[in-house]
Amino acid sequence: MSEVYNPFKIMQGQVEEAGRLLYLDENIIEHLKWPQREYKFTLPVKMDDGKVKIFHAYRVQHNFARGPAKGGIRFSPDENLDTLRALAALMTWKTAVADIPLGGGKGGVCCNPREMSDRELENLARAYVRAVCDFIGIDKDVPSPDISTNPQTMAWMMDEYETIIRRHQPGVLTDKPQPLGGTEGRRDATARGGLIAVREACRLYNIDPTGTFAVQGFGSAGQRIALSHAEFFGGGKLIAVSDSKGGIYNKNGLDARELLMHKLKTGTVVDFPGAQPVHRESVLEMDVDILYPSARENAISQANAPNIKARIVCELANGPTTPEADEILFKKNIHVLPDVVANAGGVTVSLFEMVQDSYSYFWDEETVNRRLDRILTKAFHTVENTIRERNVHPRLAAMIVGVARIAEAARLRGWI
Ligand code: GLU
Repeated sequence: MSEVYNPFKIMQGQVEEAGRLLYLDENIIEHLKWPQREYKFTLPVKMDDGKVKIFHAYRVQHNFARGPAKGGIRFSPDENLDTLRALAALMTWKTAVADIPLGGGKGGVCCNPREMSDRELENLARAYVRAVCDFIGIDKDVPSPDISTNPQTMAWMMDEYETIIRRHQPGVLTDKPQPLGGTEGRRDATARGGLIAVREACRLYNIDPTGTFAVQGFGSAGQRIALSHAEFFGGGKLIAVSDSKGGIYNKNGLDARELLMHKLKTGTVVDFPGAQPVHRESVLEMDVDILYPSARENAISQANAPNIKARIVCELANGPTTPEADEILFKKNIHVLPDVVANAGGVTVSLFEMVQDSYSYFWDEETVNRRLDRILTKAFHTVENTIRERNVHPRLAAMIVGVARIAEAARLRGWI
């Protein structure tokens, strides 16, 4: 990984910038630049061929000032301590901007889940929990799914955790299947949060949300947004979609439901009947009203930012835009809805799941969605007001809001 794109260094630079604008004490800036705790594990896992394979795994707990650490566990070949430190810090800003009583964490296992059977994935999930079990818990650190993990992974992990501690404690993890203490509305929460942010941005900037949109990445967030955008707004045409294998385009619109069936059957959006094949990178550069980057980090960089034509970029992925690209999009007057607001629906409904698990009494979907809407609408406007008051780009505005709240909590605790 080049030093320029070391995500941890980028995060530290962002904290310094926000901290300087807030005139924060040097020590609090230094405190926020580093995770409070980080763990590295080697996991022996029995594979289907009977052999044992060793996997490298991590859990980073960036900050606890406002509550227990919170954030996903990803299974992915490309993770290392620095990617996870950056993503854990992002969770700290995200929970602070949403103003929910949680900190930030992230975990990961270096593996290629596409080459593993369900049984191997289950063995890996359980091995991860055996390693991390002393360091997680409802009042310490509460994981959830992330890239290539899902509610089934959480079910295995929760079962392993409860087996070890010998009591029932479903709130140790979130985004579980509903029969095991999952909540209504969690599956759609990330996409719904993005739609709430888009709705508010469209009102503010006078943009029609029922125009065209493109989705980069067709994993769980990308699929849910493709399915729900038109329903949420009463219109809207999906014209381009990509995944890791390629891109597709149809100026008359793609049927999201049919596309999902095709993806489930073939494993990709490529060769979807009636669509024109396009390079997967070009989906980001489509002339659409709304672009949803929904894949991984650094998709929009200084190389392609000048070609972005969308009026709104709603970041369902974590960290899809580099700092250089942020400046370019800001100058082009493209409205970026930063990840810490745009995808905060997931972690917000995770908090609702923890609350419901703690008293074993569950809300209906309407209640979940209404409460989510109130929290995210407020977060969106807090960041928008900061953009205007300080004349800074949206990510810096969001950092200013998040960093100020954590600094205040750390100060009240007497840490600094
Ligand atoms: N993995 C999601 C995120 O990055 C959800 C985190 C959570 O619910 O803990 O925001």
